[in-house]
Amino acid sequence: MNHADDGSRGVGAQYFHAECRWWSGPKFLWEPEHRWPNAPVEDLQEDDNEIRKSPTVMFVSSASQIDVLLQRYSSWSRLIKVMSWLLRFVQRSRKKVPAYLKAGTLQLVEIQQTSQEIVRLVQRQHFHEEYLCLKEGRQVKCNSKLANLSPILIDDVICVGRRIHRAPIAFKAAHPMVLPKSHHVSMLIVRYYHYVLGHAGREHVLSVIRQSFWILRGRSIVRQILSKCVSCRRRNAPTLQQVMADLPKERLVPYQPPFTYTSLDFFGPFYVKRSRSTVKVYGCIFICFNSRAIHIEDVSSLETDTFIQALLRFVSVRGCPKEIWSDNGTNFTGIQKELGLLFQDMSDERIKKVTSILNSRPICSSSDDPNDMELLTPNYLLLQRRNFFVPPGIFAKEDVYSRKQWRHAQFIGNCFWSRWVREYVPPLQHRHKWLLNRRNLAVNDLVLVVDNTLPRFRWLVGRVTKVFPGEDERVRTAEVKTKTSRLARPVTKLFLLKEAT
Ligand SMILES: [Zn+2]
Repeated sequence: MNHADDGSRGVGAQYFHAECRWWSGPKFLWEPEHRWPNAPVEDLQEDDNEIRKSPTVMFVSSASQIDVLLQRYSSWSRLIKVMSWLLRFVQRSRKKVPAYLKAGTLQLVEIQQTSQEIVRLVQRQHFHEEYLCLKEGRQVKCNSKLANLSPILIDDVICVGRRIHRAPIAFKAAHPMVLPKSHHVSMLIVRYYHYVLGHAGREHVLSVIRQSFWILRGRSIVRQILSKCVSCRRRNAPTLQQVMADLPKERLVPYQPPFTYTSLDFFGPFYVKRSRSTVKVYGCIFICFNSRAIHIEDVSSLETDTFIQALLRFVSVRGCPKEIWSDNGTNFTGIQKELGLLFQDMSDERIKKVTSILNSRPICSSSDDPNDMELLTPNYLLLQRRNFFVPPGIFAKEDVYSRKQWRHAQFIGNCFWSRWVREYVPPLQHRHKWLLNRRNLAVNDLVLVVDNTLPRFRWLVGRVTKVFPGEDERVRTAEVKTKTSRLARPVTKLFLLKEAT
């Protein structure tokens, strides 16, 4: 019937002559449309030979009540207790009752039996085929998950085989009961032993569990559960990280006087001797965004008045900055450490010395080539000394050594900025830490707030109430509510204890 069949169902080559219907198609197609045959399409019968029969597989699973009970508890010890009482009830309803079942409290032997019974129930679900093999006295199949354990049946429970039965260890430890990896009961057992062992590490927990139970791929499940343990996270977790932010445009503006864009912070306090008494002083540090030059003023307190005085002193020496940035003070703790020793005997001379030392730090990496120019340091810009490079040929000699000081200063300044653009800016391209995009902190995450003045176990736990994503949608700061206050903290000062669900 179907003309296309001629090509696919195989006919002799002589059949394909010029008038063959396969070339021309059905005859009615050559006629006008109104003369085409109009055969009604009938509904197909269910027993039609053309209908492909596809089998439908229905699978009905009903979890037993015991299974529901196993899933119901989140603690192994509690589950054992409940099941023990249940089993006692069942046994007491029988005629012969052992004496220990009449005691008012649960006995050790009952608890051991219950744990065995629970394992047996789990094994019936997960290793049913293996159980049947062993029951009939055969070995388990080679492709079974248990094949490499040479399993045996002890008291109707699948246990690890005889490989180390000669070892001088308890019989139970030589033949631990086998449990599947992804079962609620296995998880409860790992959690229980981890807790009982005082939040011990992975290998310790695993070795103790293996005295009684052999959980398949146990190492990975122990690692998984330990990584979620809030107490362990609280003690061990590293602080959060986020990929390093892009530099603000203010750090990349050349040809500006030093301290045009300045950041500001306090450090200290330091106890210093003045005359016969000891006084408390703080340092107020101003850092130029572009040249990384610093200026330090000492202040006697953190009050507004003393700060304004320090700011005025700074402005009188360095000029008025265009912008001052402050971040509530955690940026310069490294400098604080460095300065701590020097500030033991604080005096104006000392401050000037410290400032000078820090301003002579190179702001870009050094080179091994002796022909290279001296390293760029903030002092070149601040002092505009001429004891360094004088590139010949750019300026006429009379300009360089001219008596017109402004031309000279201009030249030195230009040298600084051209080297700054060439040597200092390109390395900023590299992010030397925090290279990867991490999960953004989210509202309702449970975090631990780092406080370097307190031991770790006294750090406050808080909940994230607000996040502040940057231009690249990465969260680097979050508002955290602790039991005492609300704080805005950088993510590097927070530990994630539990993600919001
Ligand atoms: Zn733990």
